[in-house]
Amino acid sequence: MGKVITLFKLLPKLHQMLLCGLVFVTLIIILMPSDDAQASKQTPSASGEYDVNTRYEVPLAFRSPTPPSASLSESSPSQRTHREPLSQNREPSKQALTQATDKPEIQAAAAPKLKEKHFQVKSGDTLAALFERAGLTAKDVYDVTQLPKAKKNLLKIMPGDDLVIAKTEDGKLAKLTYHLDKITTLIVTHTDSGYHEQIVTKKVEARTKFASATIQNNFWNAGVNAGLTPNQIMQLATIFGWDIDFALDLRKGDQFAMIFEEEYADGEFLKNGNILAAEFTNQGDRYTAVRYKDGNYYSEEGRSMRKAFLRSPVDFKYVSSSFNPRRLHPVTGQVKAHRGVDYVAAVGTPIKAAGNGRVIKSSYNKYNGNYVFIKHNDTYTTKYLHLTKRKVKTGQSVKQGQIIGTLGSTGRVTGPHLHYEFIVNGVHRNPRTIKLPKSEPIAKKEKAQFATLSKTMMAELEHNKQVQLAAQ
Ligand SMILES: [Zn+2]
Repeated sequence: MGKVITLFKLLPKLHQMLLCGLVFVTLIIILMPSDDAQASKQTPSASGEYDVNTRYEVPLAFRSPTPPSASLSESSPSQRTHREPLSQNREPSKQALTQATDKPEIQAAAAPKLKEKHFQVKSGDTLAALFERAGLTAKDVYDVTQLPKAKKNLLKIMPGDDLVIAKTEDGKLAKLTYHLDKITTLIVTHTDSGYHEQIVTKKVEARTKFASATIQNNFWNAGVNAGLTPNQIMQLATIFGWDIDFALDLRKGDQFAMIFEEEYADGEFLKNGNILAAEFTNQGDRYTAVRYKDGNYYSEEGRSMRKAFLRSPVDFKYVSSSFNPRRLHPVTGQVKAHRGVDYVAAVGTPIKAAGNGRVIKSSYNKYNGNYVFIKHNDTYTTKYLHLTKRKVKTGQSVKQGQIIGTLGSTGRVTGPHLHYEFIVNGVHRNPRTIKLPKSEPIAKKEKAQFATLSKTMMAELEHNKQVQLAAQ
């Protein structure tokens, strides 16, 4: 600090004054409250979106119950979200400053002495009824609905909608504001020259966010603690669903990190956008995914994330014990003593075809219960046993991810579970560990462009991880 003062004294008088002025202005800017932060805090929850900072009670069907022995808290500091906006858009305040000049027309129309009042549309309300409540006349209804956009939108107002009405001092309609959705607003103004209407659209801006977590005993909770919505957690699991069996293969210490988009309208949070890049480390194996402009995900080397087979025919969110590698087989009481993998989940849980193929058998017997066999090609066949219901018929073609039945306890079982077999050239293999053919690489002509994007995104991901580590 001493050095700074000495340096300051060395400066010419004019420079000293300028510097003082600059410091003063900077202080004012820093001390001014930021509406931006307020707006984004309020909107998501008020509009039914999930607030990213809140831990929600997950509906039972979506929650993997924690085994009674594991009472580990998921909120260890290591997995708190690090949600610092990325460098490309760190200046929301700049946008806020330019906003005011966006709509000069409207600012002028709304004379400062007008008092705006909110009127909520009630069940059975018409525009006429609402106008009457607002102290306006049938003539006002007629005049306003002569405007085409007003007519189109105001004649189909719905219960719960909000109309903002401003009247002049002598009780005449001066301005009507009606939000058509989160970004578009209809504004009707009355001036000496008559009624005017206008649709104002807020500018939607995408910001990127970073989130990461280390999983303690449950992927779902780790995701929630990282500030992700249920939808985002499922998206993440879908992106890596060809590589990782989220139902059975996750372990304590697994990690994920991701960059995703958020949409803002005039600084107000609208909704989450796409996941742009993600990394998942499962039992020491690292998987990466980058979203390309074609809407598909590719590994950082440019191989499609989509593969011929899903790792798991059951969504992880239904499977009861994610973290119990020594779970006993529900029939034999032994650890994996048979030729398949068992997924224990509630009766009725949807079962998906692991890959495209043809149903070679959809039938019932007293051992398998209801069962479905799918032949994918000359090499691969998958089998699904003990279903409550079969949803496909013998001979039918199925697509990867298609629901072929629901989990049950039919046949010789002691409890509900899916018995899943993966057969390669007639030999039973472990679907969770078998090496499958490499997926398609990105098209040759997209390769260079993807490589640049991938490099940038993975560097950004790495940078954010480092920043987070440093902050701990
Ligand atoms: Zn089994």
